Amino acid sequence: MVELDNFFFQINSWSFTKHRVWNRCQRQYYFEYIAPYVKSTPVVNPEKIRWLKNFTSKFVVQGQLIHDIIDKQIQLHCENKPMDLVEAMNAFSKKVSLYKNIGGETFTEYHNGEKIPGSFYAALDENGKTCLQTFFGKWQDYRSRACLRHEEFDHFSIGDVGVTVKVDFVGRMPDDTLVLTDWKTGRDDDEYETELQMAAYVLWAKQYYKLSADEISTELVFLKTGATKPYRFFEEQVCEVQEMIPREFVTMNASYEYGDFPATPSQRECLSCKFAEVCPETAVVRK
Ligand code: SF4
Repeated sequence: MVELDNFFFQINSWSFTKHRVWNRCQRQYYFEYIAPYVKSTPVVNPEKIRWLKNFTSKFVVQGQLIHDIIDKQIQLHCENKPMDLVEAMNAFSKKVSLYKNIGGETFTEYHNGEKIPGSFYAALDENGKTCLQTFFGKWQDYRSRACLRHEEFDHFSIGDVGVTVKVDFVGRMPDDTLVLTDWKTGRDDDEYETELQMAAYVLWAKQYYKLSADEISTELVFLKTGATKPYRFFEEQVCEVQEMIPREFVTMNASYEYGDFPATPSQRECLSCKFAEVCPETAVVRK
């Protein structure tokens, strides 16, 4: 019987990110969310796991950098200070240079043996600047929205299951409608289960702001192309997700035994997996 640190049970909750990892590779889920807390006879030393968790996929870094810059600009707006495109662009380029200067050492892919060519940083810089330009162009439409929250972790419960969400931007329209916005920095066909993500946001907002589903709108804004996709949910759709989340959470927590988390190796996933170094089933061939 596996003994886990008490802290695991304090922070154990459902999130869309966990859902994605769970459905991508359950072994990866084990390494990411359970292995750091194993107290007795761990398969991999939890210290090693915690160290590996410091690496970040180059694809995730790209999104994070843009989100960080945008969030700082929104904060300026919320404080009634002017936003600054030039400052945002410079701050972004500086961050890209920092990664370039260390040769991408903190990228998971680099740690897993992939060479990161100079062209990657050039593309990262160009894509980021396009996204920032789009964001600033679009922001005109957001000025009339009251800024309620942005990029904060929020927690709520469905029965006894904790759920964690982080909405990019929560705004209130002049007609009092609440709009939950998610900035997407990838391609505009990159919408893996977006409806589930947005429905989880609606469930949170219903509780947090004490509203019904029809008083809440959601939208995806694709910063690469400027496309916006609105999503509205009927109460029944939100109810389905409300039932699905605890069901999945029970499955995720049915066992904490390493052997109950099967690996799903593929070259693409394993190269971007933080745990390829310690995973016996990895598809990454280390030289
Ligand atoms: S290396 Fe591959 S198989 Fe192993 S945990 Fe990561 S994604 Fe899963």
